[in-house]
Amino acid sequence: MTTADFSSLPLNADFLANLRTLNYLTMTPIQAQSLPAVLNGKDVQAQAKTGSGKTAAFGIGLLHNLDAQSYVTQALVLCPTRELTDQVSKEIRRLARPVPNTKILTLCGGTAIGPQFASLEHQPHIVVGTPGRILKHLQKGSLRLGSLKMLVLDEADRMLDMGFYDDIMRIIEMTPANRQTLLFSATYSDEIKKISRAILHEPINIEVESLHDNKKIKQIFYEIEKTKRTETLIALLQHYQPESSVIFCNRKQQCQELAEALWQQGFHALALHGDLEQKDRDKVLVQFINKSSSILIATDVAARGLDIKDLPVVINFELSPDPEVHIHRIGRTGRADNEGLALSLFMAAEAPKVNAIEEYQDYPVHIENLSSLETSSAETQEHHSFRPKMTTLCINAGRKQKIRAGDILGALTANTKLPGKQIGKIDIFDMMTYVAVEQAIAKQALKILSEGKIKGRKFRVRKL
Ligand code: ADP
Ligand code: MG
Repeated sequence: MTTADFSSLPLNADFLANLRTLNYLTMTPIQAQSLPAVLNGKDVQAQAKTGSGKTAAFGIGLLHNLDAQSYVTQALVLCPTRELTDQVSKEIRRLARPVPNTKILTLCGGTAIGPQFASLEHQPHIVVGTPGRILKHLQKGSLRLGSLKMLVLDEADRMLDMGFYDDIMRIIEMTPANRQTLLFSATYSDEIKKISRAILHEPINIEVESLHDNKKIKQIFYEIEKTKRTETLIALLQHYQPESSVIFCNRKQQCQELAEALWQQGFHALALHGDLEQKDRDKVLVQFINKSSSILIATDVAARGLDIKDLPVVINFELSPDPEVHIHRIGRTGRADNEGLALSLFMAAEAPKVNAIEEYQDYPVHIENLSSLETSSAETQEHHSFRPKMTTLCINAGRKQKIRAGDILGALTANTKLPGKQIGKIDIFDMMTYVAVEQAIAKQALKILSEGKIKGRKFRVRKL
């Protein structure tokens, strides 16, 4: 047994068995460093990059402390956005399987508040939500935190970036002083230090190495001329032909413009930025993750915290002025045992940014000549399809209509010749369901779903 083994923690056998079924065999560094303190009731302030396993680091802690027999709210997790709230509550639900009858409720803005009042008639054990909406419920008295044992601030830096400081402080005023508080953040700014001092009690400070292993991420820089940015990007996509990639821009308008330019070249590219409404953000992410879209163009704020696995390529359309942000961006590739590729465009005038990155990573960057890119001629391009393998069908019904993935699979495969393996990820939201299917069967699947019935009812279905 090593110290990174979950069984070195004071967790019961069912809990450990469940972790094994999740394929969590050893603790990630942030888990190994924080869980002993968390389980010991200590306040913790931890800094670790996206994808390091922070959710389980606090999720295991709050479930361990939970008294499922006591129907009061014992843990509150604050997250910056609804997507992160959904990701966190899903992860906590999986971790909670061996703890029977745990009630976990998500409370976010941007959704109707009425049904949330109804859900709160019985106090949930665990609440996960965004600060604005949580505060609203506290002010209306629908949520009560008088018995709170643990408060978690997840992606605290991002919540502060979004202007949630005052809301967070007001929420904290309504929690017991003897609570345990955990604060997780990707960066360690002055604002984070300030809020940590205000709300944590003798915290244990943890910082997990935020630089990435140079061997696992191959970084290549390309020097470009001002007017050649988009053109060079397209050449990179043609040369490397990544199955999926995230392209970072510094400004949201640029995300949009680039997405349009790529569409015109036949790429399936979607932009993710702060101006999108929640349902459009969901739609973009669903399509990217289920492989119906191969390119996600994002700003740092929009991409932060999203759990996108196994990205083969990250491209910096523009360098971030902050080398730490650069390292976070490229850290989205080369996860687990995969080798990652990070490509960055820069202009001669941006040499100081490149130098700052070299200094920060303590390693010189590798610059390649643009002429090394083998762009396909117009002729071969015609034969190369940039179309992703999958496409997404969208059904106007979701959790509220009690739709489950099995119902969709059943409708698609029962009495048809559609093989289950050509059906991809199924994402179910409150009022909407997205089904990924291989392009080759898209028409047929659309016909089956729109003409047939799901759970005995007819729903509107369209192809995105
Ligand atoms: P973060 O919040 O730090 O960005 P997450 O908590 O979202 O990271 O975890 C990233 C991914 O790693 C998730 O898909 C999660 O299921 C997985 N994961 C977390 N802990 C472990 C572990 N101990 N072993 C294997 N996978 C893990
Ligand atoms: Mg997280």
